[in-house]
Amino acid sequence: MSTVIPAIVAPSATDPLFTGTVERRDVGAKDVRIDIRWAGICHSDIHTVQGDWGPQPYPLTVGHEIVGTVAEVGSEVTNFAVGDRVGVGCLVNSCGECASCAAGAEQYCENGATGTYAAKDVDGTITQGGYATSVVVTEGFVLRVPEAIPFEKAAPLLCAGITTYSPLRHWNAGPGKKVAVIGLGGLGHMAVKIAHAMGAEVTVLSRSEAKRDDALKLGADHYFATEDRETFRTLRNEFDLIINSVSAAIDLDAHLKLLALDGTLVNVGAPSEPMGVRAGTLIGRRRSFAGSNIGGIAETQEMLDFCAEHGIAPEVEITSADQVNEAWARVLASDVRYRFVIDIETLRG
Ligand code: NAP
Ligand code: ZN
Repeated sequence: MSTVIPAIVAPSATDPLFTGTVERRDVGAKDVRIDIRWAGICHSDIHTVQGDWGPQPYPLTVGHEIVGTVAEVGSEVTNFAVGDRVGVGCLVNSCGECASCAAGAEQYCENGATGTYAAKDVDGTITQGGYATSVVVTEGFVLRVPEAIPFEKAAPLLCAGITTYSPLRHWNAGPGKKVAVIGLGGLGHMAVKIAHAMGAEVTVLSRSEAKRDDALKLGADHYFATEDRETFRTLRNEFDLIINSVSAAIDLDAHLKLLALDGTLVNVGAPSEPMGVRAGTLIGRRRSFAGSNIGGIAETQEMLDFCAEHGIAPEVEITSADQVNEAWARVLASDVRYRFVIDIETLRG
Protein backbone atom coordinates (compact mmCIF):
# COMPACT_ATOMS: atom_id res chain seq x y z
CA MET A 1 0.00 0.00 0.00
CA SER A 2 1.07 3.58 -0.52
CA THR A 3 -0.26 7.11 -0.39
CA VAL A 4 -0.21 9.65 -3.23
CA ILE A 5 0.90 13.12 -2.08
CA PRO A 6 1.66 16.50 -3.72
CA ALA A 7 5.26 16.92 -4.89
CA ILE A 8 7.42 18.93 -7.27
CA VAL A 9 8.40 16.63 -10.11
CA ALA A 10 11.21 16.70 -12.69
CA PRO A 11 9.86 15.00 -15.84
CA SER A 12 13.23 14.81 -17.62
CA ALA A 13 16.73 16.32 -17.68
CA THR A 14 15.58 19.34 -19.67
CA ASP A 15 11.88 20.05 -19.06
CA PRO A 16 10.81 22.42 -16.27
CA LEU A 17 9.74 21.09 -12.88
CA PHE A 18 6.00 20.93 -12.29
CA THR A 19 3.66 20.39 -9.37
CA GLY A 20 2.46 16.79 -9.50
CA THR A 21 2.41 13.83 -7.13
CA VAL A 22 4.63 11.14 -5.69
CA GLU A 23 3.89 7.91 -3.79
CA ARG A 24 4.97 7.20 -0.22
CA ARG A 25 4.97 3.75 1.35
CA ASP A 26 2.84 3.08 4.43
CA VAL A 27 4.60 3.43 7.77
CA GLY A 28 6.36 0.17 8.67
CA ALA A 29 7.24 -0.96 12.20
CA LYS A 30 10.50 1.03 12.31
CA ASP A 31 9.38 3.95 10.12
CA VAL A 32 8.55 7.55 10.86
CA ARG A 33 6.22 9.61 8.66
CA ILE A 34 7.20 13.27 8.60
CA ASP A 35 4.96 16.11 7.46
CA ILE A 36 7.52 18.25 5.61
CA ARG A 37 7.49 21.97 6.43
CA TRP A 38 10.63 23.32 4.71
CA ALA A 39 12.88 21.84 1.99
CA GLY A 40 16.24 23.30 0.94
CA ILE A 41 17.45 23.52 -2.66
CA CYS A 42 20.94 22.01 -3.02
CA HIS A 43 23.02 22.33 -6.19
CA SER A 44 23.17 18.51 -6.14
CA ASP A 45 19.40 18.47 -6.85
CA ILE A 46 20.13 20.36 -10.06
CA HIS A 47 23.22 18.30 -11.02
CA THR A 48 21.12 15.15 -10.57
CA VAL A 49 18.09 16.25 -12.59
CA GLN A 50 20.26 17.72 -15.36
CA GLY A 51 22.03 14.37 -15.70
CA ASP A 52 25.47 15.81 -14.80
CA TRP A 53 26.26 12.62 -12.86
CA GLY A 54 24.66 10.15 -15.27
CA PRO A 55 21.17 9.07 -16.37
CA GLN A 56 18.33 9.33 -13.84
CA PRO A 57 15.02 7.54 -13.21
CA TYR A 58 12.45 10.17 -14.32
CA PRO A 59 9.93 11.31 -13.27
CA LEU A 60 11.91 12.25 -10.17
CA THR A 61 11.29 14.33 -7.04
CA VAL A 62 14.55 15.62 -5.55
CA GLY A 63 15.39 17.39 -2.26
CA HIS A 64 17.61 16.15 0.58
CA GLU A 65 17.45 19.05 2.99
CA ILE A 66 14.21 18.26 4.80
CA VAL A 67 12.67 19.44 8.06
CA GLY A 68 9.19 18.83 9.40
CA THR A 69 7.11 17.35 12.18
CA VAL A 70 6.60 13.68 13.00
CA ALA A 71 3.05 12.75 11.97
CA GLU A 72 3.04 8.97 12.56
CA VAL A 73 5.40 6.37 14.03
CA GLY A 74 5.60 2.61 13.52
CA SER A 75 4.98 0.13 16.36
CA GLU A 76 8.72 -0.47 17.01
CA VAL A 77 9.86 3.17 16.87
CA THR A 78 11.45 4.18 20.17
CA ASN A 79 13.25 7.47 19.56
CA PHE A 80 10.53 9.66 18.05
CA ALA A 81 6.97 10.63 18.87
CA VAL A 82 4.22 12.44 16.98
CA GLY A 83 4.88 16.18 17.04
CA ASP A 84 8.71 15.98 17.23
CA ARG A 85 10.71 18.53 15.22
CA VAL A 86 12.90 16.46 12.91
CA GLY A 87 15.08 16.47 9.81
CA VAL A 88 16.23 14.14 7.04
CA GLY A 89 19.36 14.67 4.96
CA CYS A 90 20.93 12.90 1.98
CA LEU A 91 20.58 9.33 3.29
CA VAL A 92 17.53 7.26 4.19
CA ASN A 93 19.19 3.87 4.78
CA SER A 94 22.42 1.86 4.70
CA CYS A 95 23.39 -1.80 5.32
CA GLY A 96 24.11 -1.19 9.02
CA GLU A 97 26.63 -4.04 9.09
CA CYS A 98 29.79 -3.09 7.18
CA ALA A 99 32.85 -1.49 8.77
CA SER A 100 31.81 2.02 7.63
CA CYS A 101 28.30 1.69 9.07
CA ALA A 102 29.72 0.23 12.29
CA ALA A 103 31.99 3.29 12.51
CA GLY A 104 29.06 5.67 12.08
CA ALA A 105 30.13 6.59 8.55
CA GLU A 106 26.95 5.46 6.80
CA GLN A 107 27.72 7.78 3.88
CA TYR A 108 30.60 5.43 3.00
CA CYS A 109 28.52 2.22 3.43
CA GLU A 110 30.42 -0.53 1.62
CA ASN A 111 27.18 -2.00 0.32
CA GLY A 112 25.92 1.36 -0.90
CA ALA A 113 23.93 3.73 1.31
CA THR A 114 20.42 4.58 0.08
CA GLY A 115 20.18 8.17 -1.10
CA THR A 116 17.10 10.22 -0.25
CA TYR A 117 16.20 10.41 -3.95
CA ALA A 118 16.96 8.56 -7.19
CA ALA A 119 18.23 5.50 -5.31
CA LYS A 120 16.89 1.95 -5.23
CA ASP A 121 15.11 1.42 -1.91
CA VAL A 122 15.05 -1.90 -0.02
CA ASP A 123 11.60 -2.66 -1.48
CA GLY A 124 12.88 -2.10 -5.03
CA THR A 125 11.14 1.25 -5.55
CA ILE A 126 13.07 4.44 -6.39
CA THR A 127 13.44 6.86 -3.48
CA GLN A 128 11.81 10.27 -3.93
CA GLY A 129 13.06 13.39 -2.17
CA GLY A 130 11.82 16.23 -0.04
CA TYR A 131 10.18 18.65 -2.50
CA ALA A 132 6.94 17.04 -1.27
CA THR A 133 4.46 17.26 1.57
CA SER A 134 5.63 14.18 3.49
CA VAL A 135 8.27 11.46 3.63
CA VAL A 136 8.52 8.02 5.26
CA VAL A 137 11.96 7.17 6.66
CA THR A 138 13.36 4.42 8.91
CA GLU A 139 13.93 6.01 12.33
CA GLY A 140 17.71 5.49 12.34
CA PHE A 141 18.05 8.11 9.59
CA VAL A 142 15.88 10.77 11.24
CA LEU A 143 17.61 13.68 13.02
CA ARG A 144 16.40 15.94 15.82
CA VAL A 145 16.26 19.64 15.01
CA PRO A 146 17.05 21.65 18.17
CA GLU A 147 14.51 24.32 19.17
CA ALA A 148 17.27 26.96 19.10
CA ILE A 149 17.50 26.74 15.29
CA PRO A 150 14.74 28.71 13.52
CA PHE A 151 12.73 26.08 11.64
CA GLU A 152 12.67 27.90 8.27
CA LYS A 153 16.49 28.08 8.35
CA ALA A 154 17.19 24.54 9.57
CA ALA A 155 16.74 22.50 6.38
CA PRO A 156 20.05 23.46 4.65
CA LEU A 157 21.99 22.14 7.63
CA LEU A 158 20.97 18.61 6.62
CA CYS A 159 23.22 18.77 3.54
CA ALA A 160 25.15 22.06 3.25
CA GLY A 161 25.77 22.08 7.02
CA ILE A 162 26.99 18.51 7.46
CA THR A 163 28.97 18.45 4.19
CA THR A 164 31.14 21.30 5.43
CA TYR A 165 31.15 20.41 9.16
CA SER A 166 32.45 16.87 8.50
CA PRO A 167 35.70 17.78 6.69
CA LEU A 168 36.30 20.77 8.97
CA ARG A 169 36.18 18.38 11.96
CA HIS A 170 38.09 15.60 10.20
CA TRP A 171 40.97 17.91 9.24
CA ASN A 172 40.91 19.67 12.65
CA ALA A 173 39.84 23.19 11.79
CA GLY A 174 40.25 25.24 14.96
CA PRO A 175 42.37 27.86 16.72
CA GLY A 176 45.71 28.42 14.99
CA LYS A 177 44.51 26.90 11.70
CA LYS A 178 44.19 28.92 8.50
CA VAL A 179 41.18 27.72 6.54
CA ALA A 180 40.14 28.91 3.07
CA VAL A 181 36.74 28.34 1.49
CA ILE A 182 36.49 28.40 -2.31
CA GLY A 183 33.04 29.44 -3.61
CA LEU A 184 30.54 31.33 -1.45
CA GLY A 185 27.31 29.48 -2.18
CA GLY A 186 25.09 27.22 -0.07
CA LEU A 187 27.92 24.98 1.13
CA GLY A 188 30.55 27.72 1.13
CA HIS A 189 28.66 30.09 3.39
CA MET A 190 28.08 27.31 5.91
CA ALA A 191 31.77 26.39 5.79
CA VAL A 192 32.60 29.99 6.70
CA LYS A 193 30.18 30.10 9.64
CA ILE A 194 31.21 26.70 11.01
CA ALA A 195 34.98 27.17 10.57
CA HIS A 196 34.70 30.57 12.28
CA ALA A 197 32.74 29.03 15.17
CA MET A 198 35.42 26.32 15.49
CA GLY A 199 37.97 29.10 16.02
CA ALA A 200 39.87 28.92 12.71
CA GLU A 201 41.13 31.96 10.77
CA VAL A 202 38.88 31.97 7.71
CA THR A 203 39.53 33.29 4.21
CA VAL A 204 36.93 33.34 1.43
CA LEU A 205 38.06 32.84 -2.16
CA SER A 206 35.19 33.97 -4.38
CA ARG A 207 35.37 34.76 -8.09
CA SER A 208 34.66 38.49 -7.85
CA GLU A 209 34.43 41.24 -5.23
CA ALA A 210 30.60 40.97 -5.20
CA LYS A 211 30.29 38.91 -2.00
CA ARG A 212 33.00 40.65 0.09
CA ASP A 213 30.70 42.42 2.56
CA ASP A 214 28.57 39.32 3.02
CA ALA A 215 31.61 37.10 3.60
CA LEU A 216 32.96 39.36 6.34
CA LYS A 217 29.52 39.46 8.02
CA LEU A 218 29.32 35.65 7.87
CA GLY A 219 32.54 35.44 9.90
CA ALA A 220 35.37 35.47 7.35
CA ASP A 221 38.56 37.22 8.46
CA HIS A 222 39.84 37.79 4.91
CA TYR A 223 38.41 37.87 1.39
CA PHE A 224 40.09 37.56 -2.00
CA ALA A 225 38.71 37.50 -5.55
CA THR A 226 40.14 34.67 -7.64
CA GLU A 227 39.53 36.52 -10.92
CA ASP A 228 42.48 38.70 -9.80
CA ARG A 229 45.56 36.58 -10.57
CA GLU A 230 47.51 38.57 -7.95
CA THR A 231 45.47 36.65 -5.33
CA PHE A 232 47.40 33.49 -6.24
CA ARG A 233 50.76 35.20 -5.68
CA THR A 234 49.71 36.87 -2.42
CA LEU A 235 48.30 33.69 -0.86
CA ARG A 236 50.93 31.17 -2.02
CA ASN A 237 51.73 28.54 0.70
CA GLU A 238 49.24 30.18 3.07
CA PHE A 239 46.56 27.68 4.19
CA ASP A 240 46.44 24.56 6.37
CA LEU A 241 43.08 23.52 4.95
CA ILE A 242 41.09 24.54 1.88
CA ILE A 243 37.47 23.50 1.36
CA ASN A 244 36.51 23.68 -2.33
CA SER A 245 32.73 24.00 -2.61
CA VAL A 246 32.57 25.07 -6.26
CA SER A 247 30.00 23.28 -8.43
CA ALA A 248 32.15 23.60 -11.58
CA ALA A 249 35.72 22.60 -12.45
CA ILE A 250 38.31 25.13 -11.21
CA ASP A 251 42.04 25.59 -11.84
CA LEU A 252 42.81 23.05 -9.13
CA ASP A 253 46.57 23.21 -9.49
CA ALA A 254 46.62 26.98 -8.91
CA HIS A 255 44.55 26.55 -5.74
CA LEU A 256 46.70 23.65 -4.43
CA LYS A 257 49.67 26.02 -4.49
CA LEU A 258 47.90 28.06 -1.81
CA LEU A 259 48.43 25.20 0.68
CA ALA A 260 51.21 25.41 3.26
CA LEU A 261 53.47 22.41 4.11
CA ASP A 262 51.26 19.37 4.87
CA GLY A 263 48.12 21.30 3.95
CA THR A 264 45.04 19.59 2.48
CA LEU A 265 42.58 20.77 -0.14
CA VAL A 266 39.27 18.94 0.30
CA ASN A 267 36.85 18.84 -2.61
CA VAL A 268 33.22 18.83 -1.59
CA GLY A 269 32.09 20.45 -4.84
CA ALA A 270 31.12 17.74 -7.32
CA PRO A 271 31.53 18.93 -10.92
CA SER A 272 31.26 16.25 -13.59
CA GLU A 273 34.40 17.44 -15.41
CA PRO A 274 37.86 16.18 -14.33
CA MET A 275 40.38 18.61 -12.81
CA GLY A 276 44.14 18.45 -13.41
CA VAL A 277 46.88 18.28 -10.78
CA ARG A 278 50.64 18.51 -11.36
CA ALA A 279 52.50 15.97 -9.24
CA GLY A 280 55.14 18.60 -8.51
CA THR A 281 52.55 20.85 -6.86
CA LEU A 282 51.75 18.12 -4.31
CA ILE A 283 55.35 16.94 -3.91
CA GLY A 284 56.79 20.42 -3.38
CA ARG A 285 55.16 20.91 0.04
CA ARG A 286 53.80 17.43 0.91
CA ARG A 287 50.35 18.70 0.04
CA SER A 288 47.23 16.51 -0.11
CA PHE A 289 44.17 16.60 -2.34
CA ALA A 290 41.13 14.91 -0.78
CA GLY A 291 37.37 14.55 -1.08
CA SER A 292 34.57 14.29 1.46
CA ASN A 293 30.98 13.06 1.18
CA ILE A 294 28.28 14.58 3.48
CA GLY A 295 28.60 13.02 6.98
CA GLY A 296 27.35 10.13 9.11
CA ILE A 297 24.07 10.18 11.03
CA ALA A 298 25.58 10.64 14.50
CA GLU A 299 27.90 13.32 13.11
CA THR A 300 24.92 15.08 11.52
CA GLN A 301 23.22 15.22 14.93
CA GLU A 302 26.48 16.52 16.42
CA MET A 303 26.53 19.26 13.74
CA LEU A 304 22.91 20.26 14.46
CA ASP A 305 23.70 20.48 18.19
CA PHE A 306 26.91 22.44 17.45
CA CYS A 307 24.95 24.94 15.34
CA ALA A 308 22.30 25.32 18.06
CA GLU A 309 24.98 25.87 20.69
CA HIS A 310 26.86 28.43 18.60
CA GLY A 311 23.79 30.25 17.30
CA ILE A 312 24.58 29.27 13.71
CA ALA A 313 21.89 29.05 11.02
CA PRO A 314 22.02 29.27 7.23
CA GLU A 315 21.14 32.51 5.42
CA VAL A 316 18.02 31.62 3.48
CA GLU A 317 15.68 32.98 0.81
CA ILE A 318 12.20 31.52 1.11
CA THR A 319 10.56 30.44 -2.14
CA SER A 320 7.28 28.77 -3.08
CA ALA A 321 6.34 25.62 -5.00
CA ASP A 322 5.40 27.62 -8.12
CA GLN A 323 8.75 29.48 -8.15
CA VAL A 324 11.13 26.53 -7.99
CA ASN A 325 12.19 26.74 -11.66
CA GLU A 326 13.11 30.41 -11.14
CA ALA A 327 14.96 29.51 -7.93
CA TRP A 328 16.98 26.83 -9.76
CA ALA A 329 17.94 29.35 -12.45
CA ARG A 330 19.18 31.71 -9.76
CA VAL A 331 21.23 28.94 -8.10
CA LEU A 332 22.84 28.21 -11.49
CA ALA A 333 23.65 31.93 -11.80
CA SER A 334 25.22 31.94 -8.26
CA ASP A 335 22.61 34.57 -7.41
CA VAL A 336 21.15 33.05 -4.22
CA ARG A 337 21.95 34.55 -0.80
CA TYR A 338 22.77 31.86 0.25
CA ARG A 339 20.28 28.98 0.17
CA PHE A 340 16.75 28.70 -1.19
CA VAL A 341 14.24 26.99 1.08
CA ILE A 342 10.86 25.93 -0.29
CA ASP A 343 7.85 26.74 1.90
CA ILE A 344 6.11 23.36 1.61
CA GLU A 345 2.81 24.89 2.80
CA THR A 346 2.60 26.30 -0.75
CA LEU A 347 2.42 22.71 -2.06
CA ARG A 348 -0.51 21.80 0.17
CA GLY A 349 -2.91 24.16 -1.61
P1 NAP B 1 25.93 26.75 -4.99
O1 NAP B 1 25.07 27.30 -3.91
O2 NAP B 1 25.53 26.92 -6.40
O3 NAP B 1 27.40 27.33 -4.74
C1 NAP B 1 28.48 27.05 -5.61
C2 NAP B 1 29.43 28.25 -5.62
O4 NAP B 1 30.49 27.94 -6.50
C3 NAP B 1 28.81 29.52 -6.20
O5 NAP B 1 28.16 30.29 -5.23
C4 NAP B 1 30.02 30.24 -6.74
O6 NAP B 1 30.71 30.95 -5.70
C5 NAP B 1 30.93 29.12 -7.18
N1 NAP B 1 30.84 28.86 -8.62
C6 NAP B 1 29.75 28.51 -9.33
N2 NAP B 1 30.07 28.33 -10.64
C7 NAP B 1 31.38 28.56 -10.73
C8 NAP B 1 32.30 28.51 -11.80
N3 NAP B 1 31.90 28.21 -13.05
N4 NAP B 1 33.61 28.77 -11.52
C9 NAP B 1 33.99 29.08 -10.29
N5 NAP B 1 33.15 29.17 -9.23
C10 NAP B 1 31.86 28.89 -9.46
O7 NAP B 1 26.10 25.17 -4.79
P2 NAP B 1 26.08 24.29 -3.47
O8 NAP B 1 24.70 23.80 -3.23
O9 NAP B 1 26.83 24.98 -2.41
O10 NAP B 1 26.91 23.01 -3.95
C11 NAP B 1 28.25 23.16 -4.36
C12 NAP B 1 28.78 21.86 -4.93
O11 NAP B 1 28.89 20.91 -3.87
C13 NAP B 1 27.89 21.20 -5.98
O12 NAP B 1 28.73 20.63 -6.97
C14 NAP B 1 27.17 20.12 -5.19
O13 NAP B 1 26.72 19.06 -5.99
C15 NAP B 1 28.27 19.69 -4.28
N6 NAP B 1 27.82 18.98 -3.08
C16 NAP B 1 28.63 18.00 -2.62
C17 NAP B 1 28.32 17.33 -1.46
C18 NAP B 1 29.25 16.30 -0.90
O14 NAP B 1 28.82 15.49 -0.07
N7 NAP B 1 30.51 16.31 -1.28
C19 NAP B 1 27.14 17.66 -0.77
C20 NAP B 1 26.34 18.68 -1.27
C21 NAP B 1 26.69 19.35 -2.42
P3 NAP B 1 31.32 32.44 -5.93
O15 NAP B 1 30.19 33.23 -6.52
O16 NAP B 1 31.68 32.82 -4.55
O17 NAP B 1 32.49 32.30 -6.82
ZN1 ZN C 1 22.99 18.51 -1.06
